Amino acid sequence: MTSKRTDDYHRLLASWDKIFVWHPFTQMKVWNEEEPIIIERGEGSYLVDVKGNRYLDGVSSLWVTVHGHHHPDLTEAITSQADKIAHSTLLGLANVPSIKLAKRLVEISPEGLNKVFYSDSGASAVEIALKMAFQYWQQQGIPEHQSKRKFLSLGESYHGDTIGAVSVGGIDLFHEKFSPLLFEGFKAPSPYCYRCPLGKKQGACNTDCLNALEAIMAEHYREIAAVIIEPLVQGAAGMITAPPGYLRRVGELCAQYNILLIADEVAVGFGRTGILFACEQEDVRPDIMCIAKGLTGGYLPLAATLTTNAIYEVFLGRYEELKTFFHGHTYTGNPLGCAVALANIEVIERDNLLQHVQLLAKLMSEQLEEFKALRHVGDIRQRGLMVGIELVKDKASKASYPLEENIGHRVILEARERGVIIRPLGPVIVLMPILSMSEAELREVLNVTYEAIKAITEG
Ligand SMILES: *Cc1c(COP(=O)(O)O)cnc(C)c1O
Repeated sequence: MTSKRTDDYHRLLASWDKIFVWHPFTQMKVWNEEEPIIIERGEGSYLVDVKGNRYLDGVSSLWVTVHGHHHPDLTEAITSQADKIAHSTLLGLANVPSIKLAKRLVEISPEGLNKVFYSDSGASAVEIALKMAFQYWQQQGIPEHQSKRKFLSLGESYHGDTIGAVSVGGIDLFHEKFSPLLFEGFKAPSPYCYRCPLGKKQGACNTDCLNALEAIMAEHYREIAAVIIEPLVQGAAGMITAPPGYLRRVGELCAQYNILLIADEVAVGFGRTGILFACEQEDVRPDIMCIAKGLTGGYLPLAATLTTNAIYEVFLGRYEELKTFFHGHTYTGNPLGCAVALANIEVIERDNLLQHVQLLAKLMSEQLEEFKALRHVGDIRQRGLMVGIELVKDKASKASYPLEENIGHRVILEARERGVIIRPLGPVIVLMPILSMSEAELREVLNVTYEAIKAITEG
C-alpha cells in the first residue's frame, strides 16, 4: 500500500473508532480529541500500526504478552486446535486441552493446589475465588464457621472490575463511585512505603502495617472467610512493592487465625517477578490462587482459579444435598485458550525464560538507578520485570501533580513519539516489558522512558 492509501485507511478507521467504540478506563472526550494509534500486527516485541509504524511494546499489551507477538509456536497451537474444534462446553462434557492444561497447572503451581476451575478473565477468577471461599465455610459442617462471610483485603488493592472484585478493591479513584453496590468487608493498610498510610517513615518502621492487619484478624477472625492479596506487587495501584517477608507473614497469620488465603496472581503470575508464581518467592502456599493475564502468553482470554483438595472436598455430596458449586461461564475451559496456554508453558520451559527474565530484571534495576537523578521522579519500585516510576511535583515534599496536569498521560504520549508504547497509572509510569524481550530492546524502552520523563517534567 502507498502511504497516501494507508493514511486514508487510518483516517477512515479512526473515524469509525470514534463513532462506534467505547474504550475501557478512558475519558472518551479526551480520546476523541486525540489521534489514535491503530494496531494491525505484532512482531516479537513490536506492535505495528496500520500506517506501518513500529512501536516497542513496553507494557506487554497490558501485562499479558510473554513470548512476544506473532510467536510461531503459540500461533501453531491455536491453528492446530482450531482444526479440531474451537469450543465445546465443560458443562456435562470434558475436552482434551482443558484436561491436559489442568494437569500441567497443578504440576507447576505452588504445592497443595490440586483442582482447577476455569473462567475467562481475571475478574471472573476472583469472583470464583470469593464465592468458593464463602461457600466452603457455609457447608463445612462446623456451626461457628458459618459466620465467616466477609473478606479482608488491602487498601490500594485491585482485583478486577466486576462487583465482587470491586468490593475487595481499594483504589478510590476506580472503586469509590460504586460503593453503594458493594458488599462490606475489612480493609488493612497497604504496604505503600513511599506514602505510608500509617504515617511511618520509609525504612524506619517495624512493618507496622502487618500489625494493623493482624489486629483486624484478631478481632474479626470469626467473620473473615478469606484474605485476598496481590502477592508481592499491588499492580494497578502503581506497582506498590511489599517489603520482603510481608507476604510470608500474611500467610502465617492466615494459618494462625484460620482464615483462607486467596492469592490473586493475575498480574504477578507467569514469570513477571522472575519466578513462575510470586507466592513461591516467600514459600507461601495459598488456599486459592487466581491466574489469568500471562496464562495464555497474551493470546486468548483464559483464566483459572486453583484450589486445594481440602476445599474441593467440602463441595462433594449427593446431588440433593446441593453442595454443588453453582458457578460457570459459557466459555469455561475453552479448548483454544487451553491449547495456547499449554504451548505457553512449554515455551517458558523450553526457552529457559525465567532465567532470561532475571537477567533482564538485573539490567533494568541497573539502568533505573539513573532515573533517580531526574528532578520529578519521587519513587522507583521494581519486582522482576514489573516497574512503577512515581512522578511528583516536588521531591522533597512528595507533593503530587494536580490531576489536570495529567502528567502520566503526557509522558506516555511523548514516549510514543519516540517509538515506545507504555501506559501510566495516574502519575506512575508503568514498565512491564515482554518477558522474552532482547536486552537491546529493553534498553531502548528504558532510554525512551527516561527521555520522555525528562522532556515532559523538566523540558
Ligand atoms: C488485571 C487484574 C485483574 C483483572 O483481570 P481482568 O482479566 O482484567 O478481569 C485482577 N487482579 C489483578 C491483580 C489484576 O492485575
